[in-house]
Amino acid sequence: MANGDNGHGDDHRGDELAGQTALITGASRGIGEAIGWALARRGARVVLTSRTLEATDRIVAAMTAEGLAATPLELDVRDERQMDAVVAQVAETMGGIQILVNNAGTSGPPAPVWETSTEFFNDMLSVHLMGTFFGVRAVVPHMLAQGYGRIVNIVSVAGKEGNPEKGAYSAAKAGVIGLTKSLAKELATSGVLVNAVAPTVIETDLLTQSTPDHLATLTAKIPMGRRGTAAEVAEMVAWAASPRCSFTTGAVFDVSGGRMTY
Ligand code: NDP
Repeated sequence: MANGDNGHGDDHRGDELAGQTALITGASRGIGEAIGWALARRGARVVLTSRTLEATDRIVAAMTAEGLAATPLELDVRDERQMDAVVAQVAETMGGIQILVNNAGTSGPPAPVWETSTEFFNDMLSVHLMGTFFGVRAVVPHMLAQGYGRIVNIVSVAGKEGNPEKGAYSAAKAGVIGLTKSLAKELATSGVLVNAVAPTVIETDLLTQSTPDHLATLTAKIPMGRRGTAAEVAEMVAWAASPRCSFTTGAVFDVSGGRMTY
């Protein structure tokens, strides 16, 4: 389909990720679920994590029915001990972790910076920046031992440009972009590549956290004149998570309908 708007993503099938295990955070719906389908259909064993097992259980059942390999695990990315335990469990029982996608996130209601509570600001940093830090810190030793790994961090146009009334979210995503670039340079000769994918407005439940006016303003900035789909983001992630991505690290790939071209 022209818009890539076909439910669980394209029906691309392949085996380029066969034998690889992919851990995806925030995989119970939206972009994380679409990434799960995209990687599973390319042959990876996917570990779908979120705070609620009900939803990931349903997705895993649907994947299993299609003959794909998927496992649900509970994980709140703000909890470093839980992250360490999940990563250790997956690495030990599933033949290592070759792919980590740090996708879990929430944006919260729009508000100017000067009306933002400390609690909310901290929560944005905690989910996006600390959650990504906990994830990469836990998996990198395993990836270094394997001499191979692909890490993909889901950021946002907000982290590159700073969206008005999303100051805490924008700051947290900008932090993840900085972390991505530093880590990529540290690992450049190790076989472990680290990149980020920055979507603009994508049709998911996350949009219900913004007002219609706020969304209309953001959508009007997209030259293609439409919002994106989770499947379109997953397509970019699938490439960045694969061995086909071999000479690119520390990059931020835009999935923005032309809004970001730098
Ligand atoms: P959704 O709200 O559809 O999904 C968010 C996912 O994150 C859910 O699976 C949710 O699961 C999970 N999650 C939230 N908080 C936590 C947490 N503390 N620990 C673990 N999992 C958590 O959002 P999207 O799919 O749209 O967003 C995915 C990512 O893409 C986010 O990082 C977001 O910032 C980013 N993004 C989205 C854009 C958009 O327009 N949709 C644009 C740019 C970036 P559960 O609640 O079950 O834990």
